[in-house]
Amino acid sequence: MNDRKRIYLSSPTMHGDEQQFVAEAFNTNWVAPLGPNVNHFEEEMAAYTKCGYAAALSAGTAAIHLGLKLLGVEQGDIVFVSSLTFSASCNPIIYEKAEPVFIDSEPDTWNMSPYALEKAFEKYPTPKAVIVVHLYGTPAKMDEILQICQRHHVPVIEDAAESLGSTYDGKYTGTFGQIGIYSFNGNKIITTSGGGMLVSNEEALVQEARVLSTQARDPARHYQHSKIGYNYRMSNVLAGIGRGQLMHLDEHLRLKKAIYTRYKEAFADIDEIAMNPLNPRGEANNWLSCMTIKEGSCVTPDLVMDALEAENIESRPIWKPMHLQPIFSEYDFFSHNEGKVSVSEDIFVRGVCLPSDIKNTEADMEKVICIVRRLFEGS
Ligand SMILES: *Cc1c(COP(=O)(O)O)cnc(C)c1O
Repeated sequence: MNDRKRIYLSSPTMHGDEQQFVAEAFNTNWVAPLGPNVNHFEEEMAAYTKCGYAAALSAGTAAIHLGLKLLGVEQGDIVFVSSLTFSASCNPIIYEKAEPVFIDSEPDTWNMSPYALEKAFEKYPTPKAVIVVHLYGTPAKMDEILQICQRHHVPVIEDAAESLGSTYDGKYTGTFGQIGIYSFNGNKIITTSGGGMLVSNEEALVQEARVLSTQARDPARHYQHSKIGYNYRMSNVLAGIGRGQLMHLDEHLRLKKAIYTRYKEAFADIDEIAMNPLNPRGEANNWLSCMTIKEGSCVTPDLVMDALEAENIESRPIWKPMHLQPIFSEYDFFSHNEGKVSVSEDIFVRGVCLPSDIKNTEADMEKVICIVRRLFEGS
C-alpha cells in the first residue's frame, strides 16, 4: 500500500449512477441544449429541499448574480453580506455596481451576527437585499436574521453553496429566504464538476431566472430582446451528473458527519483545539470540518498546515474575511465585537480546515489526527 497517496480536503466522489444519466444524454443526443436531465434535476432538487421551484445554472456564483437581478439590485444600491465567506458571495454585488456592506460573524455558528446586522440597519436603513451564508454547512441563526430583515422589509438571499442538506428547525437551508442558491462546484458536498441552482417558493422568480440565464429572449419567433441576458444555464450533460450525485446526498451527509465526529472525539482532550460550531436548532451537512486553536498556543494554523502538507495531506486556511480583502477595503463593515478584533478575523487567524474528503479511510483519518495531536503534545 502506498501511504504517500494524497489525502484531500474535499474532492469529487462519484458512484456510477452519474454515468448512467450522462450516457442517456449521449444516447439521445441531448448533449445540448437543455434537455430532460436539466428538467429532472430541477424537479429532484425541488423535491429534496422542498423549496418549491429550482433553476439549474452554470455556477453558484451565477445563481447569486441572478438572485440580485431578480430582486432589482442596481447601481448604487446597498447589499448586506456576511464577511466570513468565499468571495463569490459578494462579487456579483460588484458586477451590478452595487455596494456591499460586510456583516461580521457571531461566535456561536460563525455566521452572520444578528447584532452586527442590526447595527448595519441603523446606518443603512434601506439595503436592497441581505445575503446570508451558511458557512462550512452550519446553519446561520435564521430566526433572528429573518425577523430583523422582515421588520425592515428587506429580502434575503441565502448563500447555501456550502450547506446543501443542512437543516434549521427541520427545514433545509436555502429555503428560508426569498431566494436560495446552491453550488455544485468540484469540492462541494455533491458536484456536477461545476454548476449551481437557484431556488425559491415563488415560481415567477425561478421562471425569470430561467429566462435571464438563457440570453433573455422575448417570446417571439425572431430573436428579440427587451433586457440584458446571460449565458448561465446548466448543460444537460452536467445535470446528468447532478442527478446521479443527488441520489447519494444522504450518504455523503452521513459520511461527512462521521468525519466531524471523529475529529471532535479525537481532539476532545486537547484544551487548545475547538472544532467549528454546529447550530443546536439544526443539522449541519458538515461540508468541511474545521478547528480553531486557542489564543496563546505555541501551535499556529500555519504549523498545522505545514505539518499536514509535509505528509501530502491537503488542508486550508479559513476563508479570509471580505472586509480584510484589498479589493473590498473601501466598503463598510459592522463588527460583532466593537472595539476589539472582529469575530470573523479572530476565526480566520486561529482556524484551519481539516481534510474532510468522504473517501478518506480510517487509516487516513488516524494519520491526520496523529500529526495534529503530535504538534500539541510537543508544545
Ligand atoms: C462555492 C461557493 C460559492 C460559489 O459557487 P460556484 O458554484 O463555485 O460558483 C458561493 N458562495 C460560497 C459560500 C461558496 O463556498
